[in-house]
Parts: sequence; C-alpha cells; structure tokens
Amino acid sequence: MYLKRIEIHGFKSFADRTTLELSPGITAIVGPNGSGKSNIADAIRWVLGEQNARSLRGNRMEDVIFAGSEGRRSVNFCEVSITLDNADRHLPVVFDEVRVTRRVYRSGESEYLINQQPCRLKDIHELFMDSGLGREAYSIIGQGRVEELLSTQPEDRRGPFEEAAGIVKFKTRRKETERRLEESAANLTRVDDILAELT
Ligand code: ATP
Repeated sequence: MYLKRIEIHGFKSFADRTTLELSPGITAIVGPNGSGKSNIADAIRWVLGEQNARSLRGNRMEDVIFAGSEGRRSVNFCEVSITLDNADRHLPVVFDEVRVTRRVYRSGESEYLINQQPCRLKDIHELFMDSGLGREAYSIIGQGRVEELLSTQPEDRRGPFEEAAGIVKFKTRRKETERRLEESAANLTRVDDILAELT
C-alpha cells in the first residue's frame, strides 16, 4: 500500500484545488516557513477522521476551512481526498485503489466517502484500524511528537505499539461489546423493576 494522491480544496492555506501526485519511494516536500507543508500532513490526518481541532493546530473544527488571505475571500467548505494504492490488499477491501474523502461546510455539515460512497466516520476508522494509517497511528509523526512519545507515560506510549501489533481492532471491539453488555445489564435491571412492580 502506498499513498498515491492527495487532493486538497479549501483546506487551511490551500484555497484552490491542489493535487499532489506521489510515486512509490520517498517524497520530500520543501518550502519556506509558513508555506503550508505541515498543512499537508494536517490534511491527511483530517481526512483520516481526526476530531480534535487542537491536534490540527486550530481552536475549532471550522479553523481548517480556508479563512481568506490578502486579496482572497474565505471559502465556505473544504474537502480533502487521499488515494491509496491497495494492489497488495493491505487494506481489507477488494479494491486496487481506495479513495477516502472528507468534506465539511461552515454550517457544520460534514460528509465522509470511501470510493465516492458516503460512509460513517466509524467505517473510516475500521478501514484503517491496524493498518498503521489510522487517526492515532504511527505513520504520521508530527513536529514535537517524537519528544512527546519519548517523554510521556509508558501507558500513553502504548498506542502506537498496539497499532503496530495489530490489536487495536480487537480492543475496540472489546470496548464496544463491554458497552453493549452494560446497556443490556441496565435494561435487565429495568425489566426486573417493572416485573417487581407488576407482581
Ligand atoms: P514551517 O516550516 O514554519 O513549519 P509550514 O510550511 O509547515 O511552516 P504550515 O504551518 O503548514 O507551514 O502553514 C501555515 C500557514 O497556513 C500560515 O500562513 C497560516 O496563515 C496558514 N493557514 C492555516 N490555517 C489557515 C486557514 N484556515 N485559512 C487560511 N490560511 C491558513
């Protein structure tokens, strides 16, 4: 699997639709300070479902939409797509190419798509879980993250290792099952209460 293409439109400093075609191997993006290099990494994390505005270096989620510049009006929506070559079936789907899109409007409406089909954020998380490319995965190490990884508590550092070991999927399912069990237990208690009232 490799990242083939990044399309950015209206995201942060990318007011116009911008397409970056990448080849297998190493790609370096260079540019002066403030020219938008980190915004590309932010765009990738955002399309993968990042929900925390602060980790995208903003205060609110709308901060990712191009806010205007000298001589350029702000825009009302932004969209990012990444296309992954999946010929090796690293992602557990039958497609040779997987294109993931996220779109958001200033009004707050948002949309996720996998290969042009609308989907839920949960589908995106499940698609990338344990692939190394998930929202919390180790494939994007932002500025300062190396120090953070080295200095934080061992428990906090476990995340990337668990992702690499491929057990995040099972931990997530376990959490979901535990939540359902708790809900069922609460429902049973309610049923018992009702039965006690009736008898
Ligand atoms: P450095 O080399 O200093 O780390 P960089 O090339 O990584 O810089 P970025 O941090 O990606 O640069 O880009 C910062 C630029 O993006 C700033 O000029 C900032 O004004 C612009 N920017 C960020 N969010 C928005 C937005 N919502 N609308 C317009 N411009 C934005």
